[in-house]
Amino acid sequence: MRAWLQNVGRAVGTLANGMFVTLSTAIRTYRRKPFTTSFEYPERPVSVRPRYRGFHRFDLTACIGCDKCARACPVDCIYIDKEKAPPPAKGFVITGFTIDYTKCMFCALCVDPCPADCLYMGSNYDISCYTRDGCIVDYSKLPLEVAWGQDGLTPTAIHESKKVSLPVWTKT
Ligand code: SF4
Ligand code: SF4
Repeated sequence: MRAWLQNVGRAVGTLANGMFVTLSTAIRTYRRKPFTTSFEYPERPVSVRPRYRGFHRFDLTACIGCDKCARACPVDCIYIDKEKAPPPAKGFVITGFTIDYTKCMFCALCVDPCPADCLYMGSNYDISCYTRDGCIVDYSKLPLEVAWGQDGLTPTAIHESKKVSLPVWTKT
C-alpha cells in the first residue's frame, strides 16, 4: 500500500512538473516581443551563434583545386573551373569556384575534406535577391576580403562580381 501511494505521488509530481514547464513556455511565447522589435533587422544584423552555418567563406589564394569539396557535396552544387598552372609552377589556377545556393542545403560536408582549410561555413545569412541568378555565387570573382570575410558577402557584392568580364574565346 505504501509503495503504491509513493508511486501515485511520484506520478502526480512528474505530471505537475511537466505541466509547469509547458505552461511557463506558453506564457513566455505569448509575452515575446515581435522579431523586428528585438533585433531591428534588416537595419541591424541579427547575432548568430559561433558555429552557425551561413553562406560559405572561401580563400582563393589557398585553394589547390583538388575537387574534394565538390565530390563531397551530396547535391553537386559546387562547380570548380581550373587550368594547369603555367610552368615552372605546379598545380592549378582556379578560374571559377561557384556555389549554387538554390541547391545548397548548408550541411557543411564540403568543409571537412578540404586539405587546405580554405572553405568554411560563414556567419552570413542574407543574400536575398530578386532573381535566381543572385543565388549563384562565383567566389573566384569576388574580392578576397568579401569571399573570405565574415560578413562581406552581400547581394551588392555578388551583383558586382557578375559584371567581371571574362576573356572571350576566339578561334585561332
Ligand atoms: S554545405 Fe552541403 S550542400 Fe552546401 S555546398 Fe557544402 S556540401 Fe554542398
Ligand atoms: S577541397 Fe579545398 S582545396 Fe580542394 S578544391 Fe575544395 S576548397 Fe579548394
